[in-house]
Amino acid sequence: MTESPAGEGKANGYLTFPPPTAEWVEAVRRGLLTWYHDNARDLPWRHTRDPYRVLVSEVMLQQTQVDRVIPYYEAFLARFPTVESLAAGPTSEVIRLWAGLGYNRRAVNLQRTAQAVVERGGWPTDPEGLRTLPGIGPYTAGAVACFAFEQDVAFVDTNMRRVVHRLRFGPDLPAPLASERAVLEVAERLVPPGSGWEWNQALIEFGALHCTARKPACVVCPLQRSCRAYPAIQSIVAALPRGVRKKRETPFEGSNRYYRGRVLDALRSIPAETDAGIDLRQLGPKVREGFAEADVPWLRGVVDGLARDGLAVVAEERLPYDASAASGPTPAKVRLPD
Ligand code: SF4
Repeated sequence: MTESPAGEGKANGYLTFPPPTAEWVEAVRRGLLTWYHDNARDLPWRHTRDPYRVLVSEVMLQQTQVDRVIPYYEAFLARFPTVESLAAGPTSEVIRLWAGLGYNRRAVNLQRTAQAVVERGGWPTDPEGLRTLPGIGPYTAGAVACFAFEQDVAFVDTNMRRVVHRLRFGPDLPAPLASERAVLEVAERLVPPGSGWEWNQALIEFGALHCTARKPACVVCPLQRSCRAYPAIQSIVAALPRGVRKKRETPFEGSNRYYRGRVLDALRSIPAETDAGIDLRQLGPKVREGFAEADVPWLRGVVDGLARDGLAVVAEERLPYDASAASGPTPAKVRLPD
């Protein structure tokens, strides 16, 4: 079953490989689906075909681990149970519900997608149609088409790409041997007709639990005989410096992302019913220790970035003529969007 580890040639810096044999495809399908039956977790979004619920889960799962997502998923759907309720809901509440999940832009993008679905009168059902919705990229379009509408389509995120790459092309570290296009082509061949839903769930689960980035469980792997990365991948991951084994999940203190999070946390802490906005000079000390007048333009820059992403609203205060002639930044109040 194991084929030569060498590719046939090179194109654009990547090795090129022949298409997989039908025998290889069949062995990988069988091995992975059997593994999935024995190891799949019982996750709430695996019990639904509602495109809205599937979309909420997919958006939350981008950049966030399953265990952390589950309580947010349930709380979000308890408050916004349908696409219509999210489309019509206050953006400030959507952002408040997102507190702690991080990557807050996902929250406003999710609501924009919901508003577009409602405006169009329903969901597109194939990846091409889904991609015309705002905030939907190729991965999410494929995931919704597959997990809601049970289409036999291929789509790959980082984990799925890693598994397919290792199986077909070899170790993905220190750098991939095959292009993203080549990996997607193999992923497309692997989707078993009529079982795309189960197959893609299996590929996701296998990448999350078994063939992980830094600790692939090769010794007990049912796909070992079909895998071009085995056994070399084991010594490659063992040689990785410790520092790069675990990905940083919290934003670096002092980074722009860190302060965006601090500003949003401060805005969320203002009760919705009294939220007429907070002055930059009052907001500053909640965001940065030792905040001084000279930091106001910096804070204004952070806040303007949030406003561009739909996460905050900045209202300039109208000044009397004489006062507006004075030097310094115009006073502004900041709040969550309505
Ligand atoms: S043998 Fe190792 S690298 Fe290959 S699929 Fe299994 S766990 Fe992943």
